[in-house]
Amino acid sequence: MVTIDSIETLLVDLPTIRPHQLSMTTMKGQTLMIVRITCSDGSVGIGEGTTIGGLAYGAESPESMKLNIDTYFTPLLVGQNADQVLVLMQRLNQAIRDNRFAKSAVETALYDALGKRLKLSVADLLGGSLRSSLPVAWTLASGDTAKDIDEAEQMLATRRHQIFKLKIGTRSVAEDVAHVAAIKKALGDRGQVRVDVNMAWSELEAINGVAGLADVGCELVEQPVACPQALRRLTQQSSIAIMADESLVGPQSAFDLAKNKAADVFAIKIEQSGGMRAAQKVAAIAEAANIELYGGTMLEGAIGTIASAHAFSTFQALEWGTELFGPLLITEEILETPLRYENFELQIPQGPGLGITLDEERIQFFNRAQRKKSVSLATSA
Ligand SMILES: [Mg+2]
Repeated sequence: MVTIDSIETLLVDLPTIRPHQLSMTTMKGQTLMIVRITCSDGSVGIGEGTTIGGLAYGAESPESMKLNIDTYFTPLLVGQNADQVLVLMQRLNQAIRDNRFAKSAVETALYDALGKRLKLSVADLLGGSLRSSLPVAWTLASGDTAKDIDEAEQMLATRRHQIFKLKIGTRSVAEDVAHVAAIKKALGDRGQVRVDVNMAWSELEAINGVAGLADVGCELVEQPVACPQALRRLTQQSSIAIMADESLVGPQSAFDLAKNKAADVFAIKIEQSGGMRAAQKVAAIAEAANIELYGGTMLEGAIGTIASAHAFSTFQALEWGTELFGPLLITEEILETPLRYENFELQIPQGPGLGITLDEERIQFFNRAQRKKSVSLATSA
């Protein structure tokens, strides 16, 4: 029997290519919580927990995930049969409430290690992939209309993205609609334009905002309001698609939203769902309720992005593509072989497990614990 020998967690602080302005925060860098699980046969699996802007988006932070995995998850896993991923996750779920992001990271590492042992990809372990690449949207969130148009033109010219998601909700509704109108006018039919309000609008603002956005050629509005009932009313009266994101926190919430047809589209995220298997359950609920699918991101680095890609590749339909661009927002490459984004799509790596290998030197260079050590050495010298 192959058992779990040890579990290591680390925080990796990476710079981003530009500030990323959202309605609730402006991100100036990204912290990846990386979990590494070593098994008795020498196989190693990696997983990632990442949030948007520390605690700005939800109750877990990279630091809390590290602490909780070290303190509470690890003793439940070490010495257990490493092949039985469902048993291991049930063990965690029985002893630990919530902590969906940390559970997602651990589940990813368990499947990565199992895939490496069996020489199967993570998608194979999840039932098999239905596609080898995924369309990827780009988020325009510089906070400046002209800069956003320049950025979109570059993405079109290099054939990296043709779907653009605009982060709005910090300015007035009228200013936001004008911002979207200017970008859609500049791109015309060459680019699809969608917005994410990140719950910043009241219901009344959303009624006016969604109507205005529909008029200027925006095709989808993501989570305009926080309240699920208001989201349902908007879905019923809007002529363009309304997508649930923050409201979607695992299969139970997916069922509640689907039961009330409170969204046209679900933005499924593995971390928000509580893991890749939970994300598949959310997708099944959406399919049964005729709700369309979009593969969302918590702006994960390469590990979380590829875990998401493996899970999304198993969905029957993925009508709205994905936004798995997290690694492109980070300036530093942390993989031995970089991910391939080409012809507007992310190619899913084909090797066993996740199919990716970390560049250990780069990881240690940005490892927060190593940096602290070198700072204290420098000060003591
Ligand atoms: Mg969103």
